[in-house]
Amino acid sequence: MPEFLHPDPDNFSDEELFQEEKIRPQSFDDFAGQRKTLENLEIFVAATKNRGAALDHVLLHGPPGLGKTTLAHIIANELGVSCKLTSGPVLDKPGSLAGLLTNLEENDVLFIDEIHRLSPIVEEYLYSAMEDYKIDIMLETGPNARSVQIALNPFTLIGATTRSGMLTKPMLARFGIQNRLEYYTTELLSTIIERSARVLGVKIYKDAAFEIAKRSRGTPRIANALLRRVRDFAEIKGNGEIDIKIAKYALDALNVDEYGLDEMDNKIMRVMIENFRGRPVGISALATSIAENPETLEEVYEPFLIQEGFIIRTPRGREVTEKAYKHLGITVPKRLDE
Ligand code: ATP
Repeated sequence: MPEFLHPDPDNFSDEELFQEEKIRPQSFDDFAGQRKTLENLEIFVAATKNRGAALDHVLLHGPPGLGKTTLAHIIANELGVSCKLTSGPVLDKPGSLAGLLTNLEENDVLFIDEIHRLSPIVEEYLYSAMEDYKIDIMLETGPNARSVQIALNPFTLIGATTRSGMLTKPMLARFGIQNRLEYYTTELLSTIIERSARVLGVKIYKDAAFEIAKRSRGTPRIANALLRRVRDFAEIKGNGEIDIKIAKYALDALNVDEYGLDEMDNKIMRVMIENFRGRPVGISALATSIAENPETLEEVYEPFLIQEGFIIRTPRGREVTEKAYKHLGITVPKRLDE
């Protein structure tokens, strides 16, 4: 799948940021899907508001683009507090974390994206902040160095990660609420696309929204990115409306796979077929062959391929299915035909 479908919000132009923010759901009601997660969060948020306390710390995990950042904003909105955003790699020193924590107002939300990438020293610092709302700050250096304890306002940490397997046990244990976000069905993605089109003021037909949804790899971020690109085609090559004809034309011109699979998805299946001759393969051997680490393979790529029936898990390892051969245009060997 082309690079433009994995947009990096850090590199967005002002116009793209504006559009991204415009279509981002603001309340539980606007947020499509993830019913179980949402039902629980709604209860926890309502109970917390009644008590006037800070919500327990929340961990959101799951593949990229499924709505972790969006949910963090929504939780803060619904609690009626502010949300400060940062990420694991940005918080490189305890000092940067201390600066953020001491600026939080009572019951605010601090969102840390990619929380699995915190350095061990910053992570340790976070423990006492999460547990007792206290931090120790070092004053001066050298022989005069001393540490003072500072009390923080109660706050909620919302951590997001694509790789919960990489979080340390003590870190995991400090999140009272943990939820995994799942891929979206085509129907749900269709409703997300229709809502985004309404917000952007573009007319889209139901079958066209469904066609875009089908090719969005179960991911709202990809669905919205595709919608914006298809809208460009509709404006230049059509009359501005997105019907099935212009949607198909644009998606083909954009080289978007029929299932929305990206380059890595296709590489995984190809390696399983060509290097391992379609036989069951262990996660580590497969990860080495595609030069990825096993956790990313298992947590980011594999779930979608399994959900769509391209791969199955067997007691002997992962196996490609007939659907994978057909998708890659490779003849299904006899063994699988039988
Ligand atoms: P990453 O971990 O890669 O940063 P993320 O999981 O935080 O991704 P978001 O940035 O929250 O993903 O969502 C990506 C886009 O998808 C946003 O533009 C948001 O508006 C949209 N989106 C996500 N989930 C939903 C949903 N359930 N309903 C409607 N729109 C959604």
